[in-house]
Amino acid sequence: MSDYLKFMGPCPICNSRFNEADLEIVSQAGNVSLFHADCISCKSSVFMTFVKGEAGMVTNVGILTDLTKKDFRTFNNSKVITAEDILELHKALKRK
Ligand SMILES: [Zn+2]
Repeated sequence: MSDYLKFMGPCPICNSRFNEADLEIVSQAGNVSLFHADCISCKSSVFMTFVKGEAGMVTNVGILTDLTKKDFRTFNNSKVITAEDILELHKALKRK
């Protein structure tokens, strides 16, 4: 897990570093891992994807969410989450 932390950027809102304890893998498929992270400083929730490639680890842009880990688990139980699902979720949250 600390490998991921090394590649993870700071909180997009307040620039605080995430701690290992704030990270949770919500989905992993092949080389792609999806993380949910809670910022302890500003209480933002962020989704981040990590893609393991030949050149090392690549992180994708964090997606802000107001879903808590608990909410997301409920959501996650219903079906397999893909990156497209997350983007759809992001759009849905923006429409609120
Ligand atoms: Zn923050």
